[in-house]
Amino acid sequence: MSPSLIRRLDLRHDDTQDLPRAPLDVARALDVVAPLCDDVRDRGEVAVLDYGERFDGVRPTSLRVAREHLVDALAGLDPAIRAALEVSIARLRVTCEAELESTVVTTVAEGATVERRIVPMSRVGLYVPGGLAPLVSSVVMNTVPAQVAGVGSIALATPPQAEFGGLPHPTILAACELLGIEEVYAAGGAQAVAMLAHGTLATGGDVRPVDLVTGPGNIYVAAAKRHLRGTVAIDSEAGPTEIAVVADDTADAAFVAADLISQSEHDPNAASVLITASEDLAAAVESELARQVPRARHHERITTSLAGPQSAIVLVRDLDHAVEVADAYAAEHLEIQTADSAAVAARITNAGAIFVGGFTPVSLGDYAAGSNHVLPTAGCACHSSGLSVRAFVKNVHVVTYTEAALREVGHHVVALAEAEDLPSHGAAVSARTGAPARAGEST
Ligand code: NAD
Repeated sequence: MSPSLIRRLDLRHDDTQDLPRAPLDVARALDVVAPLCDDVRDRGEVAVLDYGERFDGVRPTSLRVAREHLVDALAGLDPAIRAALEVSIARLRVTCEAELESTVVTTVAEGATVERRIVPMSRVGLYVPGGLAPLVSSVVMNTVPAQVAGVGSIALATPPQAEFGGLPHPTILAACELLGIEEVYAAGGAQAVAMLAHGTLATGGDVRPVDLVTGPGNIYVAAAKRHLRGTVAIDSEAGPTEIAVVADDTADAAFVAADLISQSEHDPNAASVLITASEDLAAAVESELARQVPRARHHERITTSLAGPQSAIVLVRDLDHAVEVADAYAAEHLEIQTADSAAVAARITNAGAIFVGGFTPVSLGDYAAGSNHVLPTAGCACHSSGLSVRAFVKNVHVVTYTEAALREVGHHVVALAEAEDLPSHGAAVSARTGAPARAGEST
């Protein structure tokens, strides 16, 4: 029997072992990415072009893509791809419109209101990957929520392609035109994120800085987002793709293997993990991988991803243990293929997105489920959410009190200000209400 394409990690008797993770993580990538981003801040568009030449093998004649290229790309788009994009856009738009929160006005006491106002971000930068594959779907996943949120100004960056003379991939340009995105840059990787975050106005260029950068990318893109967080807002660290599948004996091994392969296809650093208590299923999935991988177009990339330390078949004691391990792993994509998938899914706390049952593969979510495919990786699902319309708005509390309402609560403000040794805070209230500047004191 040929050796398995994926290792086994047996946690049944020792669950203190490390869960599978890629050795090239964001912290390591920062060694390269931090100075690169600072160089873009200091040298602007020339630095972006230099890094494009080094990493993408082409120096575009212009970072800004002229409108005529967008128009031409849409005119030349395969009608079947256009129809698929339109369905993908329509389904995601329905979800975004339903999830857009509205203004809430709360009357806290008579004459005292707190309004939560929803304000769209003014200007955002969207990153669309284009290193190993032109992720046209990421144009949709970034743009639709931004537009539904009401963002006024949108810039989009995606790597230049040597094959297209330094322009981005034409399908990506066509999707931009379809969605009405006019400000498109032929810039990829960390240099694109830095360009969007810092802008290039200070270095003599034309790119205005954005308030928020969103979108997926490889480990360098994820590292740039971590480095620049604070200069800009980010959605999440949405780096190299991960899939974890929690499955039992009822799962179809061919489906499970196909789903693991589908995500390994993204990147040699992608992670594919099966979590199961069933040795029979583990063996059947290993056989299916051996059957399916050689037939895949990107079998070399897939083999590297499956063989990496970030991928494994994890053997667990039972379904409870599987849920525990899945929560600790906090996968970007988590599939549940068990006898009662919905009940198991309801117990999961940490995942970017959960795909329930045998007929909800991750690749459906990659394109046309109505969910968003930009999702936190490397365990960040413990604290971060996938991209949604909520990332593109800010909440602003608008507080309005009448004089009577201030009088009613003023002495409590004075008491708390005194407790913090900040009496001037209390005095600002007393000046209006005439109440004692110190709680219990008369004026
Ligand atoms: P990409 O556009 O993310 O990255 C390409 C860029 O990486 C290049 O333009 C180059 O500038 C830069 N780069 C390449 N090698 C470098 C190096 N050694 N040092 C510094 N910079 C370097 O495209 P990609 O590489 O195809 O990666 C796409 C990624 O997006 C995959 O890892 C995929 O799994 C991931 N993805 C993630 C999600 C998510 O939501 N988490 C969704 C879709 C895709």
